[in-house]
Order: sequence, then structure tokens, then C-alpha cells
Amino acid sequence: MEKTHLGYLENMDLLTIEAQILDVLQEKENTIMVLNQTIFYPQGGGQPSDTGIIKGPAGIFRVNEARFVDGVVKHIGIFEEGTLKGGDEVQCIVDKEPRALYSRIHSAGHVLDMVVGILNLSWKPGRGFHFPEGPYIEYSGKLEGIDLDELKEKMTDLSNKIIQKGETTRVLFIDKDKMAQYCHFVPDRLPVGKPSRVVLYGDFGVPCGGTHVQNLAEIKQVVIRKIKRKGDTIRVGYNVVK
Ligand SMILES: [Zn+2]
Repeated sequence: MEKTHLGYLENMDLLTIEAQILDVLQEKENTIMVLNQTIFYPQGGGQPSDTGIIKGPAGIFRVNEARFVDGVVKHIGIFEEGTLKGGDEVQCIVDKEPRALYSRIHSAGHVLDMVVGILNLSWKPGRGFHFPEGPYIEYSGKLEGIDLDELKEKMTDLSNKIIQKGETTRVLFIDKDKMAQYCHFVPDRLPVGKPSRVVLYGDFGVPCGGTHVQNLAEIKQVVIRKIKRKGDTIRVGYNVVK
């Protein structure tokens, strides 16, 4: 099947886009829309899926979840009105509020990465969980000899200073071998010889495919909930304050 063009990679702020339905599939009880392009962020990289609607000439489809499968974004949901078919020109509309919250939570994770760098903790970033229910990011590194309450306070304080100062999010598409100029950490899993997206705040770059706030000030406020060791990893739990 033709790969879905991922419109959100180029423009994370676009909440509506025109597209064409390539196929309408039925997989067990799920109805699935496949489009030539999408701005629905499919769940991945620790960020929840976008929700919203796909509106066509003879129907409205509610997208409850978008999933990325072998280059194709599957929009899973139900018809709210009428029906839609392959070839239809449609309008995609992403639900604004959940997307804004997910982008704030996800971007706050990058602020914590910056703070870890500023504090010279020598932790290597790992997995992130950027759902509204108890977001956290994981690192590998040392916790021994660190006063965790003090660190928690310091991280909260520094994060909020960065957020208050504000910084515009920039996006670059660059090859893995050039990323070290922009990024403190380049994961092995990135493809070679094919540009990947780097998200930049000032001179702090992160290879990342998620959606982000336009300016760090939009995060508003961050609170570090806890810092603890879990197996081989350090887990930093946080919240964004409404
Ligand atoms: Zn990101």
C-alpha cells in the first residue's frame, strides 16, 4: 500500500488539511481510513494518538485513534454520519485541545533533557511516556550520592526558568551523520543516508518525530513528581500544570 505522507512532520501546527481517501478497510470490528496524507499523529514515541474527524462529501468519520503500520497511517474510528469511500476528497480536522495538551507534555520532556544537560548529570536519554496520566522520561546513568529531593527541586526550578524565558521551536531535516552538530544524543535506530527530523530549541537539538509547542512558554509550568531508579533506568516523573 502507498505510504502516507506525514504532514505533521513538516508542520506540527496544522490542525486541518485536505486529503484523499485511498482505501476504507474493515479489520475485525474496526473501520479504517487510509489517506494519501495526514496530520493525525499516530501513537508512537511515547506520545498518544491524535483524535478528530474526517469529513467528506457524504459522511463524517470520527477518528478515535491513528496507528502507524509499515509507513501507512491507519485512522481507526466510526462513521458519525453517512459514509465515505476510496477516492473521496476529504477534510481532516484534528481535535485541538488534546493535541495541545500532548504537545505541551511531550515538549516538557525535552526541557527536562535540557536541564539534565545543564546540571551535567551525564545521563543518557531513553524512553519517554508522554501521556496525561503520569508522564515520565527515562535515562541510564548514576543516581548514587545524589540528594533526590534537592535534585527534584532544582530540576523543577530550572525547567520553569527555561519555560518562562520561552524559545521558538524550529524543525530541520538532516542526515544522521550531521546530527551531532545539533544534538547531544543521536540514537542508533535512526536511518542512515535519509534525512530525519531534528527539533531545535535555540542550539539544543533532539531527533524527534512527535508534535511540539510552537514556543516553550506554551508549556506554562512543570513540576517534577519523582525521581527514582527502576531496574537499570532512572525514571523522572513530571506533570505539566494547567
Ligand atoms: Zn519531541
